[in-house]
Amino acid sequence: MSEKKITAPKGTHDVLPAQVHIWQELEKIMHETSKEYGYKQIRFPVFEHTELFNRGVGDTTDVVQKEMYTFLDKGDRSITLRPEGTASTVRSYIENNLYSGPMPVKLYYIISCYRYERPQAGRFREFNQFGIENFGSGSALTDAEVISLAMLLLKRLGVEGLTLYINSIGCKECRKKYNETLKDFLHSKQQSLCDLCIDRMDRNPLRVLDCKNPDCQEILKDAPTVDSVLCDDCVKHFNDLKKYLTEIGIPFEVDTSLVRGLDYYTKTVFEIKSGDLGAQSTVCGGGRYDGLVEQLGGASTPGIGFSMGIERLISILEKQNKLPEANDKCEIFIGSMGEKATEFAFKAVYALRENGIKAEFDHLAKSVKAQMKYADKIGANYSVIVGDDELNKGVATLKNMQNGETKEIALCDLLGGKLNG
Ligand code: ATP
Ligand code: MG
Repeated sequence: MSEKKITAPKGTHDVLPAQVHIWQELEKIMHETSKEYGYKQIRFPVFEHTELFNRGVGDTTDVVQKEMYTFLDKGDRSITLRPEGTASTVRSYIENNLYSGPMPVKLYYIISCYRYERPQAGRFREFNQFGIENFGSGSALTDAEVISLAMLLLKRLGVEGLTLYINSIGCKECRKKYNETLKDFLHSKQQSLCDLCIDRMDRNPLRVLDCKNPDCQEILKDAPTVDSVLCDDCVKHFNDLKKYLTEIGIPFEVDTSLVRGLDYYTKTVFEIKSGDLGAQSTVCGGGRYDGLVEQLGGASTPGIGFSMGIERLISILEKQNKLPEANDKCEIFIGSMGEKATEFAFKAVYALRENGIKAEFDHLAKSVKAQMKYADKIGANYSVIVGDDELNKGVATLKNMQNGETKEIALCDLLGGKLNG
């Protein structure tokens, strides 16, 4: 009797060989675009001390209160699988003195993230993000540049139908004022809000705004918006951002109710949404976090970044029929009859591959007919069959598998790793 099959944990997925080219192509464009903008990749651990996220993401956020994979390791340390990349990037920036290099410091990452959520379309327990973080500039030019990177990347990937929403949630001072205004409003609606909203109302009123409960959302529609309390500096910063985005032709909409789900944001927040994603419509979210480096033990440093959900990106591309094509077709299949010919094929294939030509041959002593079927299945552009006759003459017939045309090819050329004479 066979053993019971083991399946992947809920909310996780394999990227299978037939799809992996999609990931590779997307990642290639992410690396290239980041490089053009002067960003360098950073790689950090999959797990961190839990405290990093409690302090970095905020202990009244959904991510920390409900979604973290936290456990005690064998040394009784509280460890958490990273739910996002910003906190780790800031931790590493401080720990490794990255601020001692030229400013601003520009970093990007392509990482898996872990959140204990209810799996559904566009929402997984293990998912992947591309993200960038920029440290050392408080200028609205940097906000515009960071947003432009996200938009350019999405344009290069061929995604259509996206809308960029921006808002300013103000500096620390504006936030204080807004929290008071918001608290007053929330207290006046206390009877109708859910328990979690009531719990967060005084500790972190801003978090109440992204409650997912539809009844709460209905009430929160009337909440005062942050634009009413912004100080002159924050208003100017936001107006500058709008001006710069307009100057490079990036369309946007101001959404005064946009606050984002993480605690560390100040001033600019933004989201890029797709009409093709259903309920989980946000592909990219980000914003400025001028207090975060200090909050995690570094010197006061302005910062801004975003992250993009790669699974959501792929699902839009799929809906829009824009998935990249696989580019791994075999160039030549060398079929063989008999042991000597197979050895020739083995050597010729090695020489061709050495020269960067994708070549294959038969390992399973298949019939010539079966070998040709295989060549067809793997989409080989050319095929050639070598037997004793060909070995004696030193030439074989090269067949173009697309149009059936044939021409002679010298075996010594193949052994020299050459396809075209
Ligand atoms: P949402 O409101 O959809 O829960 P979020 O505010 O929690 O998003 P962020 O923490 O800003 O998301 O993460 C950035 C991006 O990562 C999101 O815009 C989304 O594209 C993606 N993302 C977040 N959570 C998941 C998940 N559980 N599965 C897949 N992608 C996700
Ligand atoms: Mg979420």
